[in-house]
Amino acid sequence: MRLFIAVNFNNEIKSRLVQIRDRISAQSLKGNFSRPENLHLTLVFLGETPEDQVPAVCSIMAGAQRTLSLRKFTLDFAHTGCFRRSNKELWWIAAEKTDPGLGVLAELRRRLSSGLLAAGIVFDKRPFNAHITLGREIKHPAPIILPREKITAPINRISLMKSEHISGVLVYTEIFALELKQG
Ligand code: ATP
Ligand code: MG
Repeated sequence: MRLFIAVNFNNEIKSRLVQIRDRISAQSLKGNFSRPENLHLTLVFLGETPEDQVPAVCSIMAGAQRTLSLRKFTLDFAHTGCFRRSNKELWWIAAEKTDPGLGVLAELRRRLSSGLLAAGIVFDKRPFNAHITLGREIKHPAPIILPREKITAPINRISLMKSEHISGVLVYTEIFALELKQG
């Protein structure tokens, strides 16, 4: 199964993200825009993983939680931008580099990485880039203009997600979660 560890958002944050997504979409000729329920931040991408490794992934997540004694925290998103590939763009919104919450996430990612490495579980080791994908394959006739706005997202849980295409629709399903303690 195709797995990743992610931060999901509550409905209020998702609707604010959708407003930005829709501003990009309104200025685009075409694009594949993220469905509201799919808006997330990937912490670790495992990719295709044998089903019998899932319990080990869950216990590595739980172990990281115990060691770090993770508390609920917030992440500020204000920085929108894009990656360009050929003549299409992928638009994202990123956590502010100076955000203390990003330090918490980076520490969690280090813990998860060392646990996964020790267990011989494959994952993507490229540097962490804390962003939420708003849309891909975007083409637009003129520069996209977005208002500068800060979204402070409460982070209450960390989720192990399964990714699949069901009847051509990209669906993410939470299969395990770490509930963070009250801050
Ligand atoms: P698609 O089906 O179009 O690929 P997707 O990229 O959203 O959609 P997945 O490929 O399953 O779905 O990826 C799940 C999450 O992991 C997404 O946030 C994606 O950006 C991220 N991701 C995918 N591949 C990698 C990778 N090699 N390294 C890091 N993150 C990745
Ligand atoms: Mg992908």
